[in-house]
Amino acid sequence: MRPSLLDPLFVPVTSLDGVGPKVATLIEKVVPADLTAREARAGDLLFTLPSSIIDRRNRPGIALSAEGAIVTLDVRVDRHQPPPRGNRSVPYRVFVHDDTGEMALTFFHANATWLERSLPVGEHVVVSGRMEWFNGRPSMVHPDHIAFADKAEGLPLVEPVYPLTAGLHAKVLRRAIGQALARLPALPEWQDAELMRRQTFPGFADALRRIHNPADPIDVSPEAAAWRRLAYDEILAGQVSLALVRANVHKHVGRRLQGDGARIEALRAALPYRLTASQEQALTEIDVDMAKPDRMLRLLQGDVGSGKTVVALLAMARAVEAGGQAALMAPTEILARQHFSTIAPLAEKAGLAVAVLTGREKGRERAGILEGLENGSIDIVIGTHALFQETVRFRDLAFAVVDEQHRFGVHQRLAITAKGEAPDMLVMTATPIPRTLVLTAFGDMDVSRLTEKPAGRQPIRTVTLPFERYDELVGRISDALAEGQKIYWICPLVEDSDEVELTSVEERHAALRQEFGSRVGLVHGRMNGRDKDEAMRAFKQGETRVLVATTVVEVGVDVPDATIIVIEHAERFGLAQLHQLRGRVGRGSKASTCVLLYKPPLGETATARLSVLRETEDGFRIAEEDLKLRGEGELLGTRQSGTPGFQIARLEFHADLLEIARSDARLLLTRDPALESERGEAIRVLLYLFGRDEAVRLLRAG
Ligand code: ADP
Ligand code: MG
Repeated sequence: MRPSLLDPLFVPVTSLDGVGPKVATLIEKVVPADLTAREARAGDLLFTLPSSIIDRRNRPGIALSAEGAIVTLDVRVDRHQPPPRGNRSVPYRVFVHDDTGEMALTFFHANATWLERSLPVGEHVVVSGRMEWFNGRPSMVHPDHIAFADKAEGLPLVEPVYPLTAGLHAKVLRRAIGQALARLPALPEWQDAELMRRQTFPGFADALRRIHNPADPIDVSPEAAAWRRLAYDEILAGQVSLALVRANVHKHVGRRLQGDGARIEALRAALPYRLTASQEQALTEIDVDMAKPDRMLRLLQGDVGSGKTVVALLAMARAVEAGGQAALMAPTEILARQHFSTIAPLAEKAGLAVAVLTGREKGRERAGILEGLENGSIDIVIGTHALFQETVRFRDLAFAVVDEQHRFGVHQRLAITAKGEAPDMLVMTATPIPRTLVLTAFGDMDVSRLTEKPAGRQPIRTVTLPFERYDELVGRISDALAEGQKIYWICPLVEDSDEVELTSVEERHAALRQEFGSRVGLVHGRMNGRDKDEAMRAFKQGETRVLVATTVVEVGVDVPDATIIVIEHAERFGLAQLHQLRGRVGRGSKASTCVLLYKPPLGETATARLSVLRETEDGFRIAEEDLKLRGEGELLGTRQSGTPGFQIARLEFHADLLEIARSDARLLLTRDPALESERGEAIRVLLYLFGRDEAVRLLRAG
């Protein structure tokens, strides 16, 4: 249960003054939390951190204020000059002076009563805003702040600037954040006292107050002590929850999975190729883990096309030899079916019974599969989220493989392992994540890496092409088709949108059909499963030769003889995603090309992204570059995991903190596995604050 002292932070933002449903909707666009399943809360506002400040400390006097500068001025009010009656286009001017000169405060569509009240003639006032010089005369249009000189104390001289969205006024957001801060209860300190001293960390509340009420530009930079403190909180919350998951996994004793090797031999004999040295190496590591009585928890990392599937298959066969069953979980139906269609013919030769289970298997077919899993006549099941369902029971699930791991949350990882008696677990990811990120995302998992691609692969030629040359591109595609090549054509969106002018996949499909007729296929996320399958099958077998698609083909889809991929609006995709997409070609022995079609002008980051892609195919290097360009939050898609504050800990600044947090978390749980000590209790508060409730739930379950 959530500690009740956190209640004031878990109220909806609409309970704050000045925040109605409309403002709340706008606030939901800027808070750093996943709001798919809940509304924005006061606590989310605390983690909405400023990106910069407005410095109002400059008080040069009227005559010395530079054009465009933000200044704060002590002035005396001389006279008001309202616009002529009925003429709304002339502004209301209030003339003021100080020792250095005279200026006008200018207001459009002014409320005269309000101006007379805030700027009475003869009064000494402080105004702050942007200085404008026009024809040698200074003025300030709509000052940001106006206060009587004797009440100007409280005027914020350094103001935080928050991410805003159209319609959300800075003042409204600041006021809401101010209220959230005021509701922050006294919390126990969860950080180690010695570490606090060494790092000169302020307390949690102090850190938040300092960042939201900066006294100096330094206060809102990631290097500031206050910022580092919060970054450390975020990282520690992540590490503790991963350590809890891991402890939970290891708590259940595993079993030895060893067999006579007969099925493995049969499988190897059926493979049309030899395994690469990395594949062999990974298999050896997995075999060793499986043979141990401890529970296995291993991450298999390998760039797209490095051949992870066959490694998974051989490992699953080992589990079956040992008398158990195995499950392979894929993030999409297309992928699950693709795995099934590669694995099934091989498995058959080794006498393994394989089934596929997604949301689509229904009725009698489904009942048959469920029965086979329960009575053990099915050895290996390949599926999607459908495998988590309650009705799915195994006779003896001994081994679980999760493909494209980062799409599944910790929850789901646990859900599948709960279906067996402490099954060994292999998670596979094609996103080549730098080591530091493996730790933040997965904690202390063992890692195997496929570092080489199968022999005979040709490098992919990557070119960038501005959209003006579309016709030329179509000409080249026509040539390629004449040579019998297969082409992916990727578009960013499914439907036309008014806001962004993107060619929808359907429009592109229609246009290419005009050129190439029925050889052009279409697949996108809004199609139903059977149609998707059919489109993939037709392309795979060559009935269609151009496949217009959205990013549904991003992950793992395997059509080895596709040699060209065109990515339309390449500037809209992230680096990792572009790399994944490009990996759809270059899977066979023929030379391949990736065309990045873009709409000029390219922004700075987009230019950098596209040139990284042109320079290298090394997924690990691309991941490092991506990290530099974007920060790890986006890279891992942690936004989806719904952890508040995910943006605080930019690892490029705080990599050192990660190492500290790792050992801190491990030590903490060794000494106090149930988090019952005083510090442990405080850590629970931290976990709730950072949305790691699932980790706390594990404690209770334990
Ligand atoms: P990924 O790691 O992206 O999941 P896949 O497992 O889909 O890669 O494999 C990509 C392609 O490479 C498949 O067509 C597969 O049959 C093939 N492949 C896998 N291992 C080898 C190998 N050792 N030699 C040749 N081809 C291989
Ligand atoms: Mg794969």
